[in-house]
Amino acid sequence: MIEHLQDKIFTTISEIADKHQQACYVIGGYVRDLLLKRPSKDIDIVVVGSGIELAGRVAKKTGKNTHLSVFKNFGTAQVKTPVYEIEFVGARKESYQRDSRKPVVEDGTLEDDQNRRDFTINALAICLNKDHYGELIDPFNGLTDLKNQVIRTPLNPDITFSDDPLRMMRAVRFAAQLGFYIEVNTFEAIGRNKERINIISKERVADELNKIILSPKPSVGFILLEKSGLLKLIFPELDDLRGVETKDGVGHKDNFYHTIAVLDNLSEHSDNLWLRWSALLHDVGKTRTKRFDKKLGWTFHNHEFTGMKMLPDIFKKMKLPMNEKMKYTQKMVLLHMRPIVLSEEEITDSAVRRLLFDAGDDIDDLMLLCEADITSKNREKVKRYKGNFQIVRRKLKEIEEKDRIRNFQPPVKGDEIMQLFNLPACSLVGEIKMKIKDAILDGIIPNEYDAAYKYMINIAAEMGISPTTK
Ligand code: ATP
Ligand code: MG
Repeated sequence: MIEHLQDKIFTTISEIADKHQQACYVIGGYVRDLLLKRPSKDIDIVVVGSGIELAGRVAKKTGKNTHLSVFKNFGTAQVKTPVYEIEFVGARKESYQRDSRKPVVEDGTLEDDQNRRDFTINALAICLNKDHYGELIDPFNGLTDLKNQVIRTPLNPDITFSDDPLRMMRAVRFAAQLGFYIEVNTFEAIGRNKERINIISKERVADELNKIILSPKPSVGFILLEKSGLLKLIFPELDDLRGVETKDGVGHKDNFYHTIAVLDNLSEHSDNLWLRWSALLHDVGKTRTKRFDKKLGWTFHNHEFTGMKMLPDIFKKMKLPMNEKMKYTQKMVLLHMRPIVLSEEEITDSAVRRLLFDAGDDIDDLMLLCEADITSKNREKVKRYKGNFQIVRRKLKEIEEKDRIRNFQPPVKGDEIMQLFNLPACSLVGEIKMKIKDAILDGIIPNEYDAAYKYMINIAAEMGISPTTK
């Protein structure tokens, strides 16, 4: 352990704590991550006594590149060095009331402080005082759980989760992030206490959900959310996708399991949070568009459009950002069928240009999503789809190099049309612009000014409009 604690910051804290005869420990996530060899820059220090005082002394010693913030109300302080963010807190004992996750706090011992931690692997402490420097204090066998990759509450899980229900989300999040198992008693307690999640703010739930989505294999987290019953409470629209219906002996695939498989596929190729959200939401419209047709079997016509329309409500309810991130996600959901349709048909240049125009700079993200959407078990089918996508990608590249549609700017601007034909700002101007755009996308004229100008004069004449003579 000692070799991990050679960094100057730890020896500085150690010297100061010893000088003031305060027992002092590194605790929680930093210790866990140290043992897992996941280097982290966030350090939590617990001191038996005042965390704020110790932080002040450490900040003074570490000098001018250090920033100290004190949170008197919480009894904590943060020291920010160019490398680390160190939280200092006095050891505390917590007790909870039923309607809040805000505990009543009083001063306590290290043991009290370890008792208030959420999981055994998060309750590990390392002593920083000289006499016991580097000694691991592990009252709940957290080290064994770390080795066995187990998430378990230190005390009765029903009490731990009922006290602070956010811990249920954290359990699932750690399982997904670290690839650990939730111990069976702990997991069953989540099922019993799931309704308590309602006292947690939507923002906190969304933070944990984002961490699950950003984990290496997010389906691990979503399966646990589903199995524990949390999913229905925090994200009913995703839960609604679950299940298979059969009619006349014809079933459809389970859209929940399909969705999380798509998310896993995508996660192998992209860490973009909002592209991952797009994968999670790409089929969300299927619940509302599902129909059974005697000839066609199960259909989900226009589910991409319905899904796109559902997003603002979902984002608002879950307190996700209602800004360009949502717009981007809507665009991905709306367009997610386009490359697939394209790959199944004779690929025309015009269809490729229209896709480039609609997707713009997000075309590469869209292609990643579409490739991730191939989850068929039929190998031949997968091979054929992948092959077709290669063709689509090649076409996209060719056309983009030739026609530069991705960031399409109309070669003739509205102002110029208005001036030339002496028109006010009216729908005619829009119509002319649209016809020019369509002509370019359909390959009737190249994406160039001179060609567009000539074409404009012709279509205007057809519409009975001619340029004013100067
Ligand atoms: P990460 O930093 O990846 O989010 P972490 O475990 O370090 O994971 P922090 O929020 O940084 O999480 O918290 C640091 C430590 O504080 C945890 O390791 C745990 O010991 C304790 N802790 C955090 N949140 C809770 C909670 N809701 N209930 C009990 N203990 C908690
Ligand atoms: Mg942390």
